[in-house]
Amino acid sequence: MKIAFFDAKPYDKPSFDRYGDQYGLKFKYFETKLNEDTVELAHGFDGVCVFVNDTVNAAVIDRLVDLKVRVVALRCAGFNNVDMKYAFGKIHVLRVPAYSPYAVAEHSMAMLLTSIRRIHKAYIRTKDFNFSLVGMTGFDLYGKIVGVIGTGRIGRVFIDICRGFGMKVLAYDKFPAEGLDNGDTVRYVTLDELFANSDIISLHCPLTEETYHIIGEDSLKKCKKGVVLINTSRGPLVDAEALLAGIKSRQVGAACLDVYEEESDFFFEDFSGHIVEDDVLARLISMPNVLVTSHQAFLTEEALANIAQTTVSNIVGFFEKEQCPNELCYRSGGAEDCKNGTCF
Ligand code: NAD
Repeated sequence: MKIAFFDAKPYDKPSFDRYGDQYGLKFKYFETKLNEDTVELAHGFDGVCVFVNDTVNAAVIDRLVDLKVRVVALRCAGFNNVDMKYAFGKIHVLRVPAYSPYAVAEHSMAMLLTSIRRIHKAYIRTKDFNFSLVGMTGFDLYGKIVGVIGTGRIGRVFIDICRGFGMKVLAYDKFPAEGLDNGDTVRYVTLDELFANSDIISLHCPLTEETYHIIGEDSLKKCKKGVVLINTSRGPLVDAEALLAGIKSRQVGAACLDVYEEESDFFFEDFSGHIVEDDVLARLISMPNVLVTSHQAFLTEEALANIAQTTVSNIVGFFEKEQCPNELCYRSGGAEDCKNGTCF
């Protein structure tokens, strides 16, 4: 089997080559992202392997089908970049549902601590032998209230970490997890209650029509003044312009962003010698209380190994048995009639 691997980075290759060799799977690495302009590169391949900022829309799907590509193997959990309704019945879509919830949850806490204890400022100051503490006052996490939106795999690990710091958790999920609410340190509440009472809000839900701009002008108005926002989930969960306005008005005390609405134009690439055209991103980055990382929350050795192993076993399993437990399946009838995959 030959697989065209799009948006390839140097850190992807070692683990994909290792697991690919074990199972007789050959990857051809393309640095470019998959989109309507680059889809021709998939000619002669059995499958394509894509990441979060590749585009798998109707036009790309049609061309992949013409090229006799049978499978789209996502090497990530989220699939908002794939037109799943359109893909249904035309091409198979596989994903890696979990690779290390710890990687993302720990990065969320790393960003929070860096931001509120001004570690990013201290690092630069002491490099310049500036040992002044002026402007470095932070606050304790102990006793603070953290609102967690989305209590799936990552959200639950993040809750455990927060409880270790002695924080109280207000949780919101469309499908609450059984046994998580203990009536004390972790409580499920409505979204409005979460907004009104949280000192810190962390997003761990998927990007859907319902969650698009879940943090926007209206929701920010409902938040405590000085709320700290963490988004390690998907950029469009947050209306970036509303966030910038919230930072300027001091309604938002700090923002920790591993993802950004328009990240596909920038993230994962080196723009250090360029003029960044996105004024909202540039202004956010210029703020002393905004911390941006470039969709790096997943990037640990453990996660990379798990991603490669699961992606390879998804592809091999699919071509051997014509089915895969990690196949995404869009069925208007719901999950009842789906035998092979993960319905949504
Ligand atoms: P998960 O599927 O285990 O959990 C998602 C949770 O969100 C579920 O409990 C689900 O019920 C809930 N949810 C669904 N719709 C909701 C809604 N409308 N409102 C509130 N909650 C809703 O997923 P996960 O593995 O915990 O991942 C969470 C998200 O993290 C992913 O969707 C992905 O976007 C993001 N992610 C980011 C990175 C990164 O590197 N930054 C890496 C992996 C995943």
